[in-house]
Parts: sequence; C-alpha cells; structure tokens
Amino acid sequence: MSRPIVADPVVPALAIVADDITGAADVAGMLRRRGLRTALIAGDPVPGRAVPEADAVVVGLRIRTAPVAEAVERATAAARWLLDAAPAVLAWKICSTFDSTPAGNIGPVTDALLALTGLPAALVCPAFPENGRVVRDGRLFVHGVPLDESPMRDHPLTPMRDAELARLLAPQVTEPGRIVRIDTGDHPREAIEAAIAADARYLIPDAADDAAATALGEAVVGRALPVIASGLIPGIVAALRRAGRLPSEGIPPPAVPRLGGRAAIIAGSCSTATRAQVESFGAHHDVVRLQPDLADPPAAAIAAARRAFLAGSQAVLVASTADPAGVEASRETLGPEAGAWIEHWLGEVAAALAADGVRRFVSAGGETTGAVVEALNVRVFEVGAELAPGVPVLTADRGGAPLLLVAKSGNFGGPGFFERVLEATSATGAGDIRAPMPDGGVPSAAVGAVDG
Ligand code: ADP
Repeated sequence: MSRPIVADPVVPALAIVADDITGAADVAGMLRRRGLRTALIAGDPVPGRAVPEADAVVVGLRIRTAPVAEAVERATAAARWLLDAAPAVLAWKICSTFDSTPAGNIGPVTDALLALTGLPAALVCPAFPENGRVVRDGRLFVHGVPLDESPMRDHPLTPMRDAELARLLAPQVTEPGRIVRIDTGDHPREAIEAAIAADARYLIPDAADDAAATALGEAVVGRALPVIASGLIPGIVAALRRAGRLPSEGIPPPAVPRLGGRAAIIAGSCSTATRAQVESFGAHHDVVRLQPDLADPPAAAIAAARRAFLAGSQAVLVASTADPAGVEASRETLGPEAGAWIEHWLGEVAAALAADGVRRFVSAGGETTGAVVEALNVRVFEVGAELAPGVPVLTADRGGAPLLLVAKSGNFGGPGFFERVLEATSATGAGDIRAPMPDGGVPSAAVGAVDG
C-alpha cells in the first residue's frame, strides 16, 4: 500500500535577530529577493511556539535604544528561540548607519550572542553598498559622506558623531582591546581565520562595494557571528546554498498584492529621505501634521485624517516629521521623552485608522514602525517583493482580514516613494490616491487641519 507523500517540514537555514522592525523588513526583503521563503516575527517570540516553516526567519525587536539589560535579555531570548530550530547561521542585524548610543546596544548584544553561540568572534560589518553604506579604512560612509557628517549626525535618538567603527564599538563591548580591523583583500576566509587565531574577538573589515560585501558574507558562515546590515546577505545565502542548507534554486517572490481601499502613511522619521518624501507627497496629497503642542495630539490627528477620508481621499499621510529645529522645538515642549511620546501617538493614530477599516499601511522610521506594528497588534508577517532596496511588502492576517504594511527605515527610498507604494498596492494599479486639484492643491478647507 502506498503511503501519502508528506513534505519534510522546512527548517530555517538562516535565523536573524534584528534590532528594529524596519531593519528586520530590510534584511527580510533582501532574503526574499534571493528566493528564500521568509517569515518576519514582529516583537518578542512566544516561548514554546514553533518557529515558522520558512527558509529564513527574522525576528524584529524594538531594542535599538532600549536600556542595555533589556536589549540583551530580549535579543538573547529571541536568539534562543531561533536556535531551537537549529539554523545553520544565526545573525545579528544592526542598522546600516550603526545607530546606537555609547552604551549600546550593538556591542552588548554582540557579546551576549557570542556567549550563547560559543562562536569565537564576531564580524562587525554594517555595509549595504546598494543603499550607499560602505566601509572604507574602518570608517562608515553614507552615500559618500562619513557617517558623522551625514544627516545621521542629527538623529533625534541616536545622533552619530563618529564614523570610525572601532571607536564607536569600543565603549559598547566587554573586551575593547580585542577589536581588530582586518584587511580581507582577496582572501576573506583566511583573514577571518588569522584574526581569530590571533585572539581577535570583534573583527572590522572594509566593504567598499557589493563584491566585497558578498565575499565577506560567504566567508563569515561557520567562522564568526555575523553582526551585519543587509549587504552581506547575498554572500551568506550563497554559502548556505553551496553547503546544501538551502535549495540551489530560490522561489521568486509573489506579485505585490493589490489590496486597494483606503491607505494610511504614518511617518515619524525625521531623516532627510523621509522629509523629502513627506514634502513630495504633500505637494499633491493630504498631509496631517501631528502637532505635539496640542492638548491631545493623536486625537486631533485622527480627527483630521478621518475628515480627509470623508472628503474623498483614499490615502492620508500622518506625519510628525520635522527638521532639526522642529525636533528641538518638540523637545522643549515635551521634554527628553519627546520621541517616545510621538511614537506612541503615531501608534494610536494607526490603531484608530485600522479600526476604521484601513488595511494598507506605510510606515516611515524604525521606532515609528515598531510603535505602529505594536498598535496594530500583528505578530507574523509574510515577506513579499521589495518596492525599493530594503523595503519589501509585508502581509499579515489581522483578525481574519488581510493587512498590508510597507515599513521603511527612515533614510530609505527616493522622494516619490509614498506615491509609488500606493500605486503598486492599489486595486487598479493606476494609483487610487485622489488626483491633484487643477491648481496642484487639495480642498483643504474640507479637511480642516490637513495641509495639502
Ligand atoms: P529613523 O528610521 O529615521 O531612525 P525612527 O522612527 O526610528 O526613524 O526615529 C525617529 C524618532 O524621532 C522617533 O522616536 C520619533 O518619535 C521621533 N520624532 C518624530 N517626530 C519628531 C518631532 N517632531 N520631534 C521630536 N522627535 C520626533
């Protein structure tokens, strides 16, 4: 008697802990592009619950600026949960602009994951050349500018005032004397092995382009803990394919789902890219400004967004996005916890609009997206095609209805990114956002506090 053929359960070859959700989405999008079925878990995994069947599983935490002890505990718990599924590689995904404070959390979590995995060393490389992040002479550059001269200098939570990776990492790790810059040249494997043999614990290589980042990704597998941004992923995937831990052929991502219906864009990033995106969108569409100095900022923003939808808009952008002077002004009004308040308020806006039936969301900013995803109460996302490098479409089931989220790190995407996402995910494909008025404005009188 023949027995039914039962497919082997898919065990993840690659498990990644990411320090925020847009970072998780970014690396997950890169994995999906390489043909890996990829699941994204938003927030702390539930102990005892099975790891999803996928080629790669990414846990996106919200620990970039959490207190060190909390970040270490949550990253370790997530890593333990992932390691129970016996992946071939566990990686620690950090921001490609090394976002952290002198206390952490990149270094402390690296130390914790080294202890957990028993690996002798970590390869620390935030390169993502496709998005303009490269490491030269041990210094991190963003689109050709040293990190500390880039707009990251004025980040509201993690202002980056140095570009030298070894100097940034030193105050964060237990053994700063074992940080070593390595020259990998054409032989990254040998360079990694030699550095480890010489007792280095934290290896900092250069990665000036995609080829170098890929070679490092291939070389790190089985040798060191990857502490990386997305640039090393193609190499890691290639090494896993060669080792037979992944099928030699990937499965292309499905077409971008067209959900249609109303869409909400929630922007809390104050990065240069997001500021340009807000401005570009606002030239023709509805923008609700979250105003921190009002008595009840989220209630005012929710009411303004609802008025915009009632006036016929199919897409509304709610933004707290401000330039450095605006950020300073909110700090004066709200105090040092301004960022946390604003995140929380933007989450409230997202939850209210979801309760009204909005199923398409775009979020801009790592912490902002963390707040939005927590407020939407979604845990597991399927990762689809990327709409820009590092920005995939995420889909989930929310209370029995499909939900679509495009979550981008603040600095990703070109100026027309929001319009492009709406067009790509609209039911008609032509973009179901309201057409601009003949004079290029919107009937703002009808929508109160909305500026067009
Ligand atoms: P990015 O991806 O650019 O780092 P994040 O969302 O991670 O974006 O971080 C932006 C931080 O700035 C959040 O804490 C957010 O609440 C805060 N923020 C947003 N708007 C303002 C504002 N107008 N004033 C002060 N802080 C703000």
